[in-house]
Amino acid sequence: MDLFEYQGKQYFARFGIPVSAGDVTEDVDGAVAIAEKVGYPVVVKAQVQVGGRGKAGGIKLANNADEVREHATNILGMDIKGHVVRRIWIEHASDIAEEYYASFTLDRSAKKHLGMLSAEGGVEIEAVAESNPDAIAKLHIDPAEGLTEEAARKWVEAAKLNPQATDGAVDILLKLYRCYTEGDCDLTEINPLILTPEGKVHALDAKVTLDESASFRHPEWDEFRGLAQMDPREKLAKDKGLQYVGLSGNVGVIANGAGLAMSTCDVVNQVGGAPANFLDIGGGASAEVMANALEVINSDDAVQAIFINIFGGITKGEDVANGIVQALGRVELKAPIVIRLDGTNAEQGREILKEHESDRLISVATMVDAAKKAVELAGGAS
Ligand code: GDP
Ligand code: MN
Repeated sequence: MDLFEYQGKQYFARFGIPVSAGDVTEDVDGAVAIAEKVGYPVVVKAQVQVGGRGKAGGIKLANNADEVREHATNILGMDIKGHVVRRIWIEHASDIAEEYYASFTLDRSAKKHLGMLSAEGGVEIEAVAESNPDAIAKLHIDPAEGLTEEAARKWVEAAKLNPQATDGAVDILLKLYRCYTEGDCDLTEINPLILTPEGKVHALDAKVTLDESASFRHPEWDEFRGLAQMDPREKLAKDKGLQYVGLSGNVGVIANGAGLAMSTCDVVNQVGGAPANFLDIGGGASAEVMANALEVINSDDAVQAIFINIFGGITKGEDVANGIVQALGRVELKAPIVIRLDGTNAEQGREILKEHESDRLISVATMVDAAKKAVELAGGAS
């Protein structure tokens, strides 16, 4: 779950990361009230989950109530790269001497956490990575060892921040790492992390992605939900307890096992199509689970064809086939289905499916051919 900047800052504050005093509002009067409370000058910031708000005119400095009113009026309702601004965050403005970048994320191939720190902050890190990769100091962190103060200090020195910023940056990085690990985040990013003329280090922006797999440990995350922009398809799938990730294509994918589901998405791509989602229904393929999965896929207006790819292991082919047939009785589908059924008792399963075959339900023996058929039914290769 991606958090808005103001939620990210609230999350940071729990771990002691210094952020500016501020609050969030949905209207102009509320903005003025917050500004009066935190003290002028203030910054009026559009709360949308997209970068480059500054450049798009979604971040403005205001010195008095009239200016807050003017900027709040302009920014509320503004469209920033397709995201309409519903809320604004008002915070006491900071004086900036230097802008840095800091983040933690997971480097899956290294099987370690990856910290990135740069003296060239404020701009998009992708641009720095492109134009001046040496300006990003990377640090791999063994999850079992964690980040020590000594390692953080060396890292800050390697990034060549202003020596005045060293102590403050080390302190924030240690707290940001705690936020990332103990706070169960997939990503924590501060851009810009600033050094003020008085020598203080401080987070001016916050980008936080919470790891949904850890949500059972965090009942307090519920306050972020609803406000955060969750994909409605993902929300439905979550309510039904399915492992689902929304994608942007038009072939709905259902498979059993995460590995097979990923391979299925890959094969759809390989034959020139585009998967609408990743959906793993897990080991079994009961009518109940299959009906839930089909319902989620059916809720996606982009789906033109559905590709069900099941490899029976412990679950037998005939049980899978019966599950699918029963599920079809419960859900009225908008798109045709292509099924590839293999594994234990696949023959028996296919026999059952044969009785129900039509131009809306097609059984194909191999994964690649089934993918081709589904892509064809979805309107051909893109
Ligand atoms: P983004 O453009 O969406 O990444 O939004 P940011 O929150 O990172 O703000 C963009 C830029 O606005 C920053 O890099 C700063 O240069 C500027 N900015 C944001 N807050 C302040 C502030 O309190 N004071 C000053 N002087 N500039 C700010
Ligand atoms: Mn930023």
